[in-house]
Amino acid sequence: MAPEKTAVEMHPQRWGDPAAATPLNDAARGLVELAFGLHEHPPVRSSPVPAPAIDPALLDALRELVGAEHVLTDDDTRRLRTRGKSTPDLLRARAGDLSDAPDAVVRPGGPDDVAALLAFAVEHHLAVVPFGGGTSVTGGLAARRDGYAGVVSLDLVRMKRLVAVDPVSMTATLEPGLRGPEAEALLAEHAMTLGHYPQSFEFASIGGFAATRSSGQSSAGYGRFDSLVVGLTVATPQGPLVLGSAPASAAGPDLRQLVLGSEGAFGVITSVTVRVRHLPAVTAYEGWRWRSFAEGSAAMRTLAQAGLLPTVIRLSDETETAINLARPDEIGGAGAGGCLMIVGYEGTPRRPRPGRRR
Ligand SMILES: Cc1cc2nc3c(=O)[nH]c(=O)nc-3n(C[C@H](O)[C@H](O)[C@H](O)COP(=O)(O)OP(=O)(O)OC[C@H]3O[C@@H](n4cnc5c(N)ncnc54)[C@H](O)[C@@H]3O)c2cc1C
Repeated sequence: MAPEKTAVEMHPQRWGDPAAATPLNDAARGLVELAFGLHEHPPVRSSPVPAPAIDPALLDALRELVGAEHVLTDDDTRRLRTRGKSTPDLLRARAGDLSDAPDAVVRPGGPDDVAALLAFAVEHHLAVVPFGGGTSVTGGLAARRDGYAGVVSLDLVRMKRLVAVDPVSMTATLEPGLRGPEAEALLAEHAMTLGHYPQSFEFASIGGFAATRSSGQSSAGYGRFDSLVVGLTVATPQGPLVLGSAPASAAGPDLRQLVLGSEGAFGVITSVTVRVRHLPAVTAYEGWRWRSFAEGSAAMRTLAQAGLLPTVIRLSDETETAINLARPDEIGGAGAGGCLMIVGYEGTPRRPRPGRRR
């Protein structure tokens, strides 16, 4: 294997910066036309959202609980909390199907509000859907309505505190509504990082990362989100769950696993304690082009099995490579074929690329 390699500048913390947008190259345009038979960008129509199907008296009671300004029933707010951002979700929304819209969006201010809302929901038989950043791709944000008195989207947007930092154990406790960049900004004040960069980083939340067992661009080096979680507090209809207290324990089953990846089915995550690291002094990213996906994946497997994974390693298949390399001057040009691999190293100024030589 003798891949061509060239440095490529990466911005792992940006997601779809409109100012940096470039037109699709011909290959990518061709793929879109082939897949969808489209030659034009169809206009976006704003479809009507079904009227809230919930007893107004229940809405008044919810307003009493969290404050009138935090119970929202307008169409735009409910439209944005209808399902997630998977391709089927987007196509259904685009086709005007907003039948899964919640009846109300409720924004608790803290764990006590969440507990009170869940108790209220149990008493009045309301379905509750926790909502973080809304980037779900697995259907977790679509509620079953059958038999319920209404569907409430429980938006954690007000719960954005860095609750505690432990520089000795290198852990931090974060509230669930913090989005990726907000969490990193708060940790950076302590020269710390979580190092969790899924492609949805800009919008996805801490609670969502835990509820979906999220994996990020740097997970080869930092670990997947669930492996970073030391402890969780969860509000459930039966009362609070406090899971995990020490950085490690061998006593009994690990009940954190009930909540990690649960998609909010068992309760609402109200805080997450995570392992953090010191901010890296130097980061270096480079792009490699492999002749085929098989060659690239063989290289990745070799590195993984030898314990030599860099901080970031991501291989695109031929199609994604053609779409991503929009500019002809990037790594041999869009038409050069093959598969793009992004590799990133983090270290100190004296050892900027630990592991790279090996
Ligand atoms: C363009 C794009 C790129 C993506 N890239 C990645 C990627 O690289 N890696 C990856 O792993 N995923 C990726 N995803 C999927 C998605 O971003 C992740 O699953 C993310 O973790 C969801 O976080 P969120 O805050 O948006 O959660 P939401 O979409 O709001 O919710 C996701 C699920 O978690 C539940 N939930 C949310 N918050 C809580 C809480 N506090 N307590 C209990 N349950 C809760 C919800 O009810 C729902 O079931 C991507 C999605 C998109 C649209």
